[in-house]
Amino acid sequence: MKTALRIPLLIGLALIALLALSACVAPPAPVAEDSGDTGASTELNVLCTPQPEWCEGMRIEFEKANPDITVNFVRMSSGESLTRLRNEKENPQFDIWWGGPVDSFIAAKQEGLLEAYDSPNLANIKDPDLMKDPDNYWAGIYIGSLGFATNQNWLDENPGVEAPTSWEDLLKPEFKGQLMVAHPSSSGTSYTALCTVLQLMGEDAGWDYLQNYAGQVLQFTKSGSAPGRFVGQGEAAVGIVFSHDIVANIEDGMPLVLTFPQEGTGYEIGGMGIIKGAKHLDAAQKWFDWALEPSTQELGPQYKAYQAPTVEGASASMPELLEVNLIDYDFEWCGANKKDFVDRFTNDIATADNLKE
Ligand code: PLP
Repeated sequence: MKTALRIPLLIGLALIALLALSACVAPPAPVAEDSGDTGASTELNVLCTPQPEWCEGMRIEFEKANPDITVNFVRMSSGESLTRLRNEKENPQFDIWWGGPVDSFIAAKQEGLLEAYDSPNLANIKDPDLMKDPDNYWAGIYIGSLGFATNQNWLDENPGVEAPTSWEDLLKPEFKGQLMVAHPSSSGTSYTALCTVLQLMGEDAGWDYLQNYAGQVLQFTKSGSAPGRFVGQGEAAVGIVFSHDIVANIEDGMPLVLTFPQEGTGYEIGGMGIIKGAKHLDAAQKWFDWALEPSTQELGPQYKAYQAPTVEGASASMPELLEVNLIDYDFEWCGANKKDFVDRFTNDIATADNLKE
């Protein structure tokens, strides 16, 4: 063999020997873990129930404050979210659920779908007895009241008809086939309305009322805020929607009148909870802490979210939405009975087939 060929061969053999030796001695280099615990960059999968515009705004704001975390969110209504979490119980795809009435979070806690978290920022909550779970499975992040949205053009075309100001008004003949509301199986907004009626009227009279009210409905929707939009576009006369959503529709230029049932309206505490078995627990806890900061809760109006905050030090953009006759809504009762009440509504009153949007 020529010397010129022998030298590279020797170097090659030496390299192979060195590699073999290092493979015996050194453990394989650790693969970067997809976890916030390591301090490396990570992801956070958020199940987001409010309107997509606010979800997107919160994604951007959180990433700004936490550049090492990439947020992915999926927008789903409350009932859909609960079903999804039930189906994924053994292999959860989401880390945190943010938004939607706490009735569903109470049901989720009961079903073992949430992870308790004793965030230091729970101390910021204004009314801990009402606005957080006693065992720290969920925390309230906003408050909003239910209202009625009536199309002003429709009122103009129907002289003598006034926008409804009571639950009984919704049953008037002039509103037959003119109501729009979401279905309580998919929507937390609609479930809040259902449970408000049962509390105001008592169960027997309440279920009779719900039967009659469903007979007035043109079309049930999937999402709680959709009726405001459809009524704004003139597809129906009256929608039952959270008042802050109606304000957002009016701000978008829709010809809507906002009224409240004077005998009392229900309200929501919007909730947040970490998913049991979350794959990005550290990042989920960061979001949880961040969502309970006063500065975070004051971000809503930038994204057309006018709910009132739940923490000290954050002021409400539209306090008048809560200065109405609110019932003493029993979140525990509504949460504990959610499955039964929704099943009864679906089986006895209106199916959840062919829901609009
Ligand atoms: N969008 C907004 C702005 C809300 O405040 C709420 C209630 O928390 C929801 C949506 C709830 O959505 P859904 O009724 O579709 O469950």
